[in-house]
Amino acid sequence: MVAQVIDGKAFAATVRAQVADQVAKLKEENGITPGLAVVLVGEDPASQVYVRSKGKQTVEVGMNSYEHKLDVDTSEADLLALIDKLNNDPAVHGILVQLPLPKHLNEDLVINSIDPAKDVDGFHISNVGLLGTGQKSMVPCTPLGCLMMLRDHHGSLSGMDAVVIGRSNIVGKPMAQLLLGDSCTVTIAHSRTKDLPDVVRRADIVVAAVGRPEMVPGDWIKEGATVIDVGINRIEHDGKNKLVGDVDYASAAERAGAITPVPGGVGPMTIACLLANTLTACCRANSLPEPEGLTA
Ligand code: NAP
Repeated sequence: MVAQVIDGKAFAATVRAQVADQVAKLKEENGITPGLAVVLVGEDPASQVYVRSKGKQTVEVGMNSYEHKLDVDTSEADLLALIDKLNNDPAVHGILVQLPLPKHLNEDLVINSIDPAKDVDGFHISNVGLLGTGQKSMVPCTPLGCLMMLRDHHGSLSGMDAVVIGRSNIVGKPMAQLLLGDSCTVTIAHSRTKDLPDVVRRADIVVAAVGRPEMVPGDWIKEGATVIDVGINRIEHDGKNKLVGDVDYASAAERAGAITPVPGGVGPMTIACLLANTLTACCRANSLPEPEGLTA
């Protein structure tokens, strides 16, 4: 079997177009422009790239982008004061604090100071609890993007066996909750899982979110399974830097029914879902119907 490639780049473009359409409607019919505030503390190069990209894509879909760049030695009190201001600003519907934060800042405290209704990353403890209990929440962007691609490919996921490799708070755990919400039978695997190859071989859906280059070989994949590779790993290949996932793409693509490539799979969906979440937050704040197909 040669796997169908799930083109995350094209899918993300479709999501952004849907968001842009809805934003145009909101402006025209309700006079509202959704706004996303991104807060960056310090000058971490990777974070600067992400923040720039988020700002650019926010403006491209017609939303307002508010960037707040703070010195690396910003005090916790000053950061919390900025978040409080954004929480109370009606023009701001989504707030994202770029992680990781410098070591002197308490990430949990900072994230939990964001108004949960504006927490477009879905990391606030209230949103984690709402997702865990199957209630309306803000859903973390990367797992939301994975869910959208799976729903698009399969239609219903009901009754499917899903294995999520990785139990992080930002990917593995919310991914498992979302799959459970769609009535999959879910196994969460991690570094202590026994017989990981056998666990993965049972799965109709494999989501790999580990951070280990090409760790999952093709012979772990059940014939015809759908493989979602969240991993982004930089390796050196023939003296050049190359991005690879957590799955060995070449061998997995020979057995899977469908697979996301790296790059061009899950990655582009993450920012698209951030925009979708900002739109959702704006609609909820204004008691308007939520955009269809853009939430969990
Ligand atoms: P993380 O917080 O480091 O979590 C990694 C998880 O993998 C942990 O639960 C760990 O288990 C598990 N693990 C480590 N070694 C393992 C092994 N040998 N067998 C089975 N499980 C193992 O990572 P993360 O933040 O979830 O990110 C995972 C990957 O996704 C990274 O490559 C990251 O760059 C990428 N990522 C991509 C996007 C995107 O937009 N595409 C977004 C976020 C993350 P323990 O809990 O037992 O230690």
